[in-house]
Amino acid sequence: MNLVKIFPFHFQQYDFQRIEEVRRGQTSRECVVCLENDARYAILTNCGHIFCCSCIIGYWRHSASIITPVNCPTCRAPVSMILPLNWSFEVERENAENPNEHQENNIALNDYNRRFSTERPWMDYVRDLPVLIPYIIRNIFDPTGNGIVLVFRIRMAIILLAMSLYLISPLDIIPEGVHGFFGLMDDLLICLIVFIYIASAVRDFMAHRGEILH
Ligand SMILES: [Zn+2]
Ligand SMILES: [Zn+2]
Repeated sequence: MNLVKIFPFHFQQYDFQRIEEVRRGQTSRECVVCLENDARYAILTNCGHIFCCSCIIGYWRHSASIITPVNCPTCRAPVSMILPLNWSFEVERENAENPNEHQENNIALNDYNRRFSTERPWMDYVRDLPVLIPYIIRNIFDPTGNGIVLVFRIRMAIILLAMSLYLISPLDIIPEGVHGFFGLMDDLLICLIVFIYIASAVRDFMAHRGEILH
């Protein structure tokens, strides 16, 4: 049976190749709005696509309604969160014409996420996992952190570590040896619960990123 029919979320909207590139830190950072090869102040959408921060914000401001999230220019999925990608690198290639570029992009990104990143249907939290979990794992080890504060990164690291310890420990709610596949069900359930918790924590953090950084 077709997985896409069983689950009410759309696997086909993901650009898995792009997600994999982002996970490895080898992304091509091409923006399809301005056709620039190297997106400026690149953002990653919750559907796994990359744009310049100012391009996606401009696209949203010129969309039919600014009270609803913009649809992704690549896959048409609603963009309910935008995540900064390696912005410390942008600060190095300073723009003499606009010295406030970094600050302006931060304000725009925080404003967008404050409006749309929380209070989503719970299905959105599940749908974002292939993008969000690799993103947050990469950021745990990134000392520049994309404005994701150390305390938050440590919290995520501890949760993931605790989950890993549970998965490798012999203590299980249902013993694995006894029930085979069903023995693994509790591990899968724990992973899902932890990942959804992380997804909601990231969305909450991004909604308040502006207040936290200032
Ligand atoms: Zn662009
Ligand atoms: Zn998309």
